[in-house]
Amino acid sequence: MDWFWWVLIAFWTGGFAWAAENIRTALRNRHERKLELMAAAKQERLAVEAAHKPPQPICGCTHHLAKHDKQGKCHERVEVPTAWDENKKPVHYEAGQCNCQQYVGPQPLSQVYAEELTDQA
Ligand SMILES: [Zn+2]
Ligand SMILES: [Zn+2]
Repeated sequence: MDWFWWVLIAFWTGGFAWAAENIRTALRNRHERKLELMAAAKQERLAVEAAHKPPQPICGCTHHLAKHDKQGKCHERVEVPTAWDENKKPVHYEAGQCNCQQYVGPQPLSQVYAEELTDQA
């Protein structure tokens, strides 16, 4: 065979390898881009879900409203400090009751529901 063919074959195979590498890179980039898009879409969905979730019925004392009786008195058990060190840091706790008197005025709830309705419109 002529030397010319050997040069041509070497050129071809080199060219094929180069093209294959390019295609592989392009595919990988597209795959990464797709993953990025999926992650972004997921975050967006989570944000939308969080925005549409009804507010948790948590009292200002951080206890669930179910822990409060009809008078608004919180029945959750809490740790009450009974002794402090010289830095006013509690060093001893005793079991006690949360003394929250849950605020039951009309304002906070009506506000929450009004915002919910305008949000979804
Ligand atoms: Zn409370
Ligand atoms: Zn409480």
